[in-house]
Amino acid sequence: MLTNCLMISAWRRIVNLLAPRACVVCNTRLEPHENAVCAPCNLHLPRTNYALEPYENALAQLFWGRVKVEKCVALLHYQAAAPVSALFYKLKYGNMPYLGVELGWLMGKELIPTGFFQDVDFIVPVPLAKQRVRQRGYNQSEMLAQGVALATGLKVENKLIRRIVNTETQTHKDRWERADNVNSAFKLMKQPPKAGTHVLFVDDVATTGATLCACIRCLQDVKNIKVSVLCMGVAHAR
Ligand SMILES: [Zn+2]
Repeated sequence: MLTNCLMISAWRRIVNLLAPRACVVCNTRLEPHENAVCAPCNLHLPRTNYALEPYENALAQLFWGRVKVEKCVALLHYQAAAPVSALFYKLKYGNMPYLGVELGWLMGKELIPTGFFQDVDFIVPVPLAKQRVRQRGYNQSEMLAQGVALATGLKVENKLIRRIVNTETQTHKDRWERADNVNSAFKLMKQPPKAGTHVLFVDDVATTGATLCACIRCLQDVKNIKVSVLCMGVAHAR
C-alpha cells in the first residue's frame, strides 16, 4: 500500500514536471498534491456550509412545495462575477472532463465526515441532452458524479433517466415558462428502483431547481422513494 502511494506520488511529480497543471481559479501552477484548485484558492472558495443543515437551506427551499426531498447540499455559492465562476465555466465549457471528476472527488471527500452519504443507495447525474454531450464532449454532472463515486464507493446510475428534450438554452424564457418546459424533458428509461430506495441526484449548478424537480418527478411513483440532492454550486436569484 505504502509502495503504491509512493509510486503514485512519484508519478504525479513526473507528470507535473512534464505537463504542469494549473489552478482552475487563479491559473498558478498546482503542487503535485493539489487537485484542480490551489490551496489558497481552496481556502477562499465561497462555501455554503449547507452540510451543517442539509434539510433547511437555500437549496432545499427551492424544492419545498414542489417535490419531496431529503438532504440537499450545494458545496459553493455560485457568484457570476467572482473568481469562483471560472471553476464553473471550465467545468461546463472548458473541455476538461477530468476537472469534473476531481471536483466531484473533492466534494465527496469533504462531505463524507458530515454523514451526508449515509443511506444513499446510488447516484444519478442530471442528464444532458445527447446533442449537448456531442457538442461539449461530456456531461459535467456525470463527471462530478464519477468523482463523488470515487470518493464514496457509491455506484453511478447514468442510464436511469434520459433527457429527451434539450431545454438547456432558454434564457429568454421566464422562470415559470422554463419550469413548464423542462417538466416533460426527462424520461425514466429503466425499471424504476425498488421501494424505499434512496437516490442522490448530482448537478453542477442549481438555479431555480426546475431541472432537478423534473428529474425527481420521474421517480415520484416509486413507493417510499427518498431523494437527496448534491450540487457543486447554488446560484441565488437577485
Ligand atoms: Zn488558485
